[in-house]
Amino acid sequence: MITGKNYIGNELSSSGMETYKTFDPKLNLETEWTFHEATKEEIDGAVSKASEAFQSYKTFSGEKKAEFLEAIAEEIEALGDEVIQVYCKESGLPEGRAIGERGRTMGQLRAFAQLLKEGSWVEATIDTAQPDRKPLPKIDLRKMLLPIGPIAVFGSSNFPFAFSTAGGDTASALASGCPVIVKSHPMHAATGELISSAVIKAAERTNMPDGVFSNLNSSGIEVGQQLVLHPKIKGVGFTGSIKGGTALYKLANERKEPIPVFAEMGSINPVLALPSALREKGLDWAKQYAGSVMLGAGQFCTNPGLILGIKSTSLDVFINALGEEIDKLEPTCMLHPNIHSNYEKGKKEMSSQGGTDVVAEYEKSVAPNYAQQKVLTVNGTNFLKNPKLHQEVFGPFSVVVRCADAKELTEILNRLEGQLTGTVLGNADELKLYRTAVNALQGRVGRIIFNGVPTGVEVCPSMQHGGPFPASTDSRFTSVGVSAVKRWVRPVSFQNWPQEALPEALQNENPLSIMRIVDSEHTSKKIE
Ligand code: NAP
Repeated sequence: MITGKNYIGNELSSSGMETYKTFDPKLNLETEWTFHEATKEEIDGAVSKASEAFQSYKTFSGEKKAEFLEAIAEEIEALGDEVIQVYCKESGLPEGRAIGERGRTMGQLRAFAQLLKEGSWVEATIDTAQPDRKPLPKIDLRKMLLPIGPIAVFGSSNFPFAFSTAGGDTASALASGCPVIVKSHPMHAATGELISSAVIKAAERTNMPDGVFSNLNSSGIEVGQQLVLHPKIKGVGFTGSIKGGTALYKLANERKEPIPVFAEMGSINPVLALPSALREKGLDWAKQYAGSVMLGAGQFCTNPGLILGIKSTSLDVFINALGEEIDKLEPTCMLHPNIHSNYEKGKKEMSSQGGTDVVAEYEKSVAPNYAQQKVLTVNGTNFLKNPKLHQEVFGPFSVVVRCADAKELTEILNRLEGQLTGTVLGNADELKLYRTAVNALQGRVGRIIFNGVPTGVEVCPSMQHGGPFPASTDSRFTSVGVSAVKRWVRPVSFQNWPQEALPEALQNENPLSIMRIVDSEHTSKKIE
């Protein structure tokens, strides 16, 4: 049952008077549920409980935390069809997508559980003492990664499961040993409450401390701001817009004690279409790219918003084919009227920029909140001189740039803002021939794709989801894949510490049998 209340640790609470509702974009109507905005006292309560819970949670073994994460996955599954129906209602996304995203979310939780059971992720590094070293003896030093404290998580509108309540940020923070307070996304608060109920059930079932997880409702930015400014919050995970992410990043840095903010934000994901790809497979790529631009009503951070090619007949053929393929596809429903109106605004602004021409535009009338796709083209000179054309339009929208030559192409890539992904369409020889452009692209992105589409983010250890600013606030880290756990820990060195007082990962006996670096060698052996 959806109560509309906040979870302050294990307790449901609704002490505030302010309420709001979520929206069904397909019916173009508010949903039946009413949510209570979290009050200042409730925020304080959640953070104090999290801070208290941290004292024991941070000491739990990998096995125990893994049991918790696996229980969350089981409890999400046990929510059954109800959560799928609620997800579809609040997002307008189809059932197949909801089921797939739920599977991905449970998969993420289980992957972190595996990581914890294996245990080597703590990067235990040991330099044993050398009392006889000349001219000075060497002391015993042992370093490992330890959790930083309560984390505030801001989920995104477009992934109500995988990048929200129990998504990658929450799973990775809980895996690291940090309690989590979720600022629920106002567009899918009911989905968020159901998922929160699963996390709380799992926490109770596996005897986690009260406060290891909380979920706060809010329809405005104040609750999030208060959370980020709260002295007991020690880190922030954010997935959403560049505007929101940078605002929270600035806020966190203005605190008396600044804290890390790992914000994964927007991107236009440049695609470099090299001559052979256009000449030999242009029609094929046009079809694939039409599908990629339109996927999920274009509401993906990896949506291909910029395609770059060098002026030629085959580029013209590709552009025409892309237009025709896009025209064949039917518009789909966006997540929310606000997302739809921002899309319309962005599309209009881009279309009004000098030098742009329409490649495709869906003009038939559509139901409310459905996104009419649009593709523009512009030459390289106009693109270079107008940074407005570099902006993300969140939806089924893309710009194809006709560059004068390889030099202009490279200049555009060098001037582009940081991106989550970059793609090269071509052949292996062209990677050498266009080395300067390819290197420029690599310098701007977190993931570089060869002959593919950027949409679709595999969850596995080698995935990098995060790129130079403004794609994310710290390009050294990823928000997808098990390495995401590294965002919530810091290295601590234990100098000359007695064996029995050391964390197990650093003890001579290596009771966890993990891989460690001992005196510069990778080994899982104990220290004799
Ligand atoms: P959003 O509008 O930035 O909202 C994300 C969350 O942050 C919401 O809970 C929002 O609360 C909160 N928020 C936004 N601005 C804030 C501020 N100034 N202070 C405090 N809280 C603030 O983003 P969205 O509409 O959910 O998602 C769409 C965007 O996310 C797109 O740009 C897309 O590219 C990006 N995205 C990125 C990734 C990635 O992995 N990099 C993945 C998915 C989506 P309120 O709504 O209550 O303001």
